[in-house]
Amino acid sequence: MTEEFDTRFVKFTGGTEGDRLKEENKFFDIQRKKRKDYEALALEPSERQGEIMRVTREAVDRIILGYGGDPSLSVEYRVFLVPHGALKAMSQEFAGAYLSHFDQSIIIEWHGSDIGLATGLAHELFHARSPKSTRIDLDRDSIDFRSGVTYKERGGEGTRRLEILEEAIVSTLTEEFYEAVVKKNKLFEEEVEATDIFKLWAERWLKSRNADSQTITMLLGELRYFRNAISIAKTLESYESENSKFDYLAGVAAGL
Ligand SMILES: [Zn+2]
Repeated sequence: MTEEFDTRFVKFTGGTEGDRLKEENKFFDIQRKKRKDYEALALEPSERQGEIMRVTREAVDRIILGYGGDPSLSVEYRVFLVPHGALKAMSQEFAGAYLSHFDQSIIIEWHGSDIGLATGLAHELFHARSPKSTRIDLDRDSIDFRSGVTYKERGGEGTRRLEILEEAIVSTLTEEFYEAVVKKNKLFEEEVEATDIFKLWAERWLKSRNADSQTITMLLGELRYFRNAISIAKTLESYESENSKFDYLAGVAAGL
């Protein structure tokens, strides 16, 4: 009934065996329906996108192994590549990439950037690879949930705790992935160079407009990719004068 989901991480307790079976079927029917919704939106990944996703998965598992983790023990998430804006349309808070725990899916938007795809997927995979457990207690009508270091508070609003710590760990691992894979793999070479060119000229342009260094760092410091960086860099290089490069960047900024 539930062969498409990994049921080891979801336990039903309380009630009679019949109640538990009924609730379990209901629960997985809901998850199946959610997956169908993602499937309806999903793009067929191009060969290159498929390669990027494969390289990313392998690298994430390698990094986790390096820290003594065992990726084979974790829940297998299905990845859905969806068009730009699809997550917002699904009224998800986080546009870009999203990990949907109970239906074991990762939904990632295509933003026209290979680096964005790789780092977005790596980020969600690091979350996905962390230990998970869910216990649904029919007697207490409650759900206990843990993912990585986060957990859902019992009773009340069921607030998720330690999410900031979890994000900090995942961001650090994603940075490691970026340095070790994105910056070194030929797949990303052209976009990495284009992003550097874009950042270099964006910094000069911001300085020419008297932006302070704090603002510049905030805008560009952790920028790893930029939509259409390759075509922007080519256009920037095609302009001779600094002024025409600046005018072009003002146009790009106005279009954001
Ligand atoms: Zn995250």
